[in-house]
Amino acid sequence: MAQPQARMVSEKKLCIGGYIYYYSKVAKTHKYWDCELLRQRKCQARAVTEETGAGLRVIKGPDRSPHTHPPDQDGAKAEEVKHRLRTQAVEQPTALPAQLLRDHLPEVAPEVLARLPERENLKRVIRRARRAKLPPTLKL
Ligand SMILES: [Zn+2]
Repeated sequence: MAQPQARMVSEKKLCIGGYIYYYSKVAKTHKYWDCELLRQRKCQARAVTEETGAGLRVIKGPDRSPHTHPPDQDGAKAEEVKHRLRTQAVEQPTALPAQLLRDHLPEVAPEVLARLPERENLKRVIRRARRAKLPPTLKL
C-alpha cells in the first residue's frame, strides 16, 4: 500500500491520512511525531518523516504504527484550512482578517467548517500568525 501523503499544518503539527501528529523530536534527518491523543494516553501511535528535496517522506506512518481510533478527515481538513489562513495572513499583511475569512471560508465544506473555531477566534488565529511572523511596522 502506498504511504498516504504527509502534510505540515503548522510548524509543530503534521497530518497523515486524516491523523494529526505533534512534533516530538528530530534525530539527524528524521523527525519524530506523536499522535495528538498520545499526551492524553489514548493512543501510542508515532510517525517518522524525512525531509527530502521533493518534500516530506513518510518513513513510518499509520500502517506501521497503528492508532487506537479512526482517522479524523474533517478535523485534519480543518487544520489545513487554519494553516492556509495563517499562511495568507502573512502573505497578505494588509488584508483585514474579515476579508481573509470572506476569501477562504466559502470554499470550505460544511462538515469541515463545523470543525473550525468561531469566526472571532479565526480572526485571532490570523492576528497571532502576523504577530509571530511579520515585522512590527506591518502589524495591523
Ligand atoms: Zn492516534
